[in-house]
Amino acid sequence: MLNTQLHTQDYIDLENQYNARNYKPLDVVLERGEGIWVWDVEGNKYLDFLSAYSAVNQGHAHPRILNAMIEQATKLPLTSRAFRNNQLPLLAKQLCELLGYQKMLPMNSGAEAVETAIKMSRKWGYKVKGVPEGKAEIIACHGNFAGRTTTIISFSDEPQYQDGFGPFTPGFKLVPYGDAEALQAAITPNTVAFIVEPIQGEGGVIVPPEGYLKRVREICTQHNVLLITDEVQTGLGRTGRLLASHWEEIRADVVTLGKALSGGFYPVSAVLADDNIMGVFHPGDHGSTFGGNPLAAAIAREALHVLIDERLPENADAMGTYLMTSLRQINSKHIKEVRGKGLLIGVELNEQAGGARRFCEALMHEGLLCKETHHTVVRFAPPLTITRDEIDWALERIERVFMMD
Ligand SMILES: *Cc1c(COP(=O)(O)O)cnc(C)c1O
Repeated sequence: MLNTQLHTQDYIDLENQYNARNYKPLDVVLERGEGIWVWDVEGNKYLDFLSAYSAVNQGHAHPRILNAMIEQATKLPLTSRAFRNNQLPLLAKQLCELLGYQKMLPMNSGAEAVETAIKMSRKWGYKVKGVPEGKAEIIACHGNFAGRTTTIISFSDEPQYQDGFGPFTPGFKLVPYGDAEALQAAITPNTVAFIVEPIQGEGGVIVPPEGYLKRVREICTQHNVLLITDEVQTGLGRTGRLLASHWEEIRADVVTLGKALSGGFYPVSAVLADDNIMGVFHPGDHGSTFGGNPLAAAIAREALHVLIDERLPENADAMGTYLMTSLRQINSKHIKEVRGKGLLIGVELNEQAGGARRFCEALMHEGLLCKETHHTVVRFAPPLTITRDEIDWALERIERVFMMD
């Protein structure tokens, strides 16, 4: 079967027949991308207003990252960590210096970075803090999203993420998001860590009250509890700062990164911490066959250089302010609230709007790709390379769609 003879519906049929139905994608079949634009198999062009959930902050197929990938792929893609390679040490230095930590630990998916942070905090709790064996508690927030592994869904309060997947990993406790005093009240002598997203992305682009992270930082310090910021989605420029926690000038003890760490080319994630915490890992304690492989490291090195050289956090800040201000001026009966930071923006719809999905479908027909989150929120998160003219192009279409009945 020559795939040049296939059309959109053929691909949809094949996927429906042979692929697990664990997603409900929009019915657009993409084959090419460049910068903020993607093209489907029919040749239609779309502005990507999702960026693969913020993995493509640097834009699709960024030529510099592509070159780094090709160069490394032709030399040596994988060594495993049984041997050393000449890319990982350079990535580790670059990432640690960029974000101000003493150590990094490389993994692949965001979920694996979070799993690593959980294992590290528990071990730190037992070996450093002195929590009795098996008693470590980690506090997370209602509405959190940190991935799909069995342990991570154990602290999700989204019923669908848990339904049918128990028994769950014990040792987690939930508090309301944005409520620092609730965190304070939930801490016990066995609490080892608090894990929090600076903005809840999958939870519906929920921005906590100003001062929340600062207060959380104080509480964690006061009680000798590790503060883990899950910056897999908010990190690396998305919110208009290198890390979203920089908005409140706080430094977490542990940071998880993923998504944009590779500019969308490859799954690359990492955990950052200082020696006193990361030092609990000894050879054999933890690992991954692909984590820290030379291809991943070469890609991530260039993806980070692009982020800095092209001043993408700064552009996200400026363009995000412009986009959010303009969205707030749209006088649509469907829009309840526009919120976010930088280029991570959620448009919450009124109950009567009939759900976010139909707006995403209408936007697709206008040439704009985005995805609903939590049924009533449309998330706008274009690549951070977007210009003002391109935002104007998008706004014209967004306004048209939100004016429909
Ligand atoms: C996407 C995401 C993850 C999980 O990343 P995967 O690469 O999908 O495993 C973890 N935390 C946050 C905040 C995320 O948005």
